Amino acid sequence: MGIIDKIPFLRNFSGASRKKESYSTLEITTVFPCAVSCKICPQDKWKSAYKGKHHLTYDDFCKVLENIPKQVRLDFSGFSEPFLNRDSSKMMLYAYRKGYQIVLYTTLAGFTTEDAETIKEIHFSACTIHLPDDTNFKVHDESKWLQSYELFAGIVKFDNAIYHMGRLSEKIKKEVPRICRPPILTRANNVADRVIKPLGRRKGAIRCAISDNLFNQNVMMPNGDVYLCCMDWSLQHKLGNLFEHSYETLHDSAEYDRICQSMHDPSVETICRYCERCRGN
Ligand code: SF4
Ligand code: SF4
Repeated sequence: MGIIDKIPFLRNFSGASRKKESYSTLEITTVFPCAVSCKICPQDKWKSAYKGKHHLTYDDFCKVLENIPKQVRLDFSGFSEPFLNRDSSKMMLYAYRKGYQIVLYTTLAGFTTEDAETIKEIHFSACTIHLPDDTNFKVHDESKWLQSYELFAGIVKFDNAIYHMGRLSEKIKKEVPRICRPPILTRANNVADRVIKPLGRRKGAIRCAISDNLFNQNVMMPNGDVYLCCMDWSLQHKLGNLFEHSYETLHDSAEYDRICQSMHDPSVETICRYCERCRGN
């Protein structure tokens, strides 16, 4: 669910967290691959690149938290739908009780009454629902999806309900509030050309508008590997592994230094030069 555009959510985030330097985020990918298979999503790139374990277990997640400072916000999203892993709701609750801020992006695929029971005490710092449409994310049984939605909306106050392509049914438009349609992103040219035109390479000095060149909005795989950001679907920029090392090592790694250098040295190739969130300096 890292594919979901974060801009609407960031606008709604609390005042303190709006200051870029105050929030580091780690997207938690709990399952590989994502069975939802949206058209706008570069699952094919991820499937080719990723070789690790397919499920993040509850025990591994609890161990990983020992390596992550409390000020790092945990986003249950990453490169797949969180509720497709049966333990995700337990992980959210565990982290929430430990004092972490928790954010959730979900299509509600796989969401059950058991999940509802588990997450009902969590106050999510932000939550976005990804709606089914007639083109990008199709569901076989819309009534069933709406039942899951009612169950979810009864316990979680979500910020936005988004879709990216095609049309929504009249029923969904009637039932769901706060619907918006963010633009599709190329994900640093990882999304198929037939879905969105690739971006050209940016020249000169650049900066990351999302992290303000802190590169602290990273994505963890089910095997603990951490990559640069939610654009890195081809897994080009590995910063470290949280099963083995502390969070601080991610931003003290050779790859991290290389990314920093690439901001002012165009000869150092990174995905940033092909990203919508990249700006000229
Ligand atoms: S649910 Fe999210 S991660 Fe899964 S295929 Fe759709 S956009 Fe990609
Ligand atoms: S500029 Fe680089 S670090 Fe920033 S969002 Fe884009 S790819 Fe990620």
